[in-house]
Amino acid sequence: MSDRSVETLLHELVRDIPDWPEPGVTFRDITPLLADAEALQAVVDALTELGRSLAGGPIDRVLGIEARGFILAAPVALALGAGFVPVRKAGKLPGPTYAVSYALEYGEATLEMHRDALAPGDRALVIDDVLATGGTVAATARLVGECGATHVGTAVLLELEALHGRDRLAGMPVGALRRL
Ligand code: AMP
Repeated sequence: MSDRSVETLLHELVRDIPDWPEPGVTFRDITPLLADAEALQAVVDALTELGRSLAGGPIDRVLGIEARGFILAAPVALALGAGFVPVRKAGKLPGPTYAVSYALEYGEATLEMHRDALAPGDRALVIDDVLATGGTVAATARLVGECGATHVGTAVLLELEALHGRDRLAGMPVGALRRL
């Protein structure tokens, strides 16, 4: 376990890249955090605890949103004794999928999940790196609903409060390790 708090690790090891991928957007780059073994372990532990408390009950599957969500969700799933499910950009999954299109902070996107990834009644926790406008998490929650499963919560590293993603996710249990 690191001597530095998770808040400090996120402050020190998430790098702001101005005007990327387009002018006006400040990209929060988590690669320095991923490269630091102690920090990576600390944030995985913290996301696991946050997810557990948001869910308030059993978690059957942990969903990771492409691409940085994959990196964080798989170790969280292992820690929770749950399976991992990838939520992917359009056209990447080989089997029959559910698809939801939505607006991003920059641009537009479609997310897909295998139809058989969740069984009706499954309790699904969602993991991603950044909550911005909330469109990605809202779309993922819709995918969970398409399967007849329950979205028990979403845990992210960073929440960009100025973009009011939480407003869009009213009523959903959402937590962030750090708010900016
Ligand atoms: P949103 O749907 O607007 O909440 O956007 C969240 C998704 O887009 C997440 O999967 C993030 O990885 C990515 N994202 C959006 N804005 C940023 C940002 N400023 N820095 C890093 N990733 C971002």
